[in-house]
Amino acid sequence: MTATDPMMIGCGEHGELISAVVCKHMLQGQPALAGFVENSSDPNDLQAWCYLCEDKFQQEGGMTDAFREFNGMAIVCVVCYSEAKARHTVPAGH
Ligand SMILES: [Zn+2]
Ligand SMILES: [Zn+2]
Repeated sequence: MTATDPMMIGCGEHGELISAVVCKHMLQGQPALAGFVENSSDPNDLQAWCYLCEDKFQQEGGMTDAFREFNGMAIVCVVCYSEAKARHTVPAGH
């Protein structure tokens, strides 16, 4: 069992931290609720995208170029990741 080697990122807001990946729709300045689909919950390799991306992924049937372009794959720090999670998670029963 080899653990994933964490990739570090120097976050302008939070300093040197483990990196995570979110779609471009979840970045700061996107106040609307986008949904939060977590694809990896490995603390060293967190990855998530929004409901729009999930729909696109189903349409494309996988990681196509069109999907990657739509998704935008933004690297953020783990703190930014959990903030995005808090901001974009759709409340249960909504
Ligand atoms: Zn998205
Ligand atoms: Zn950050």
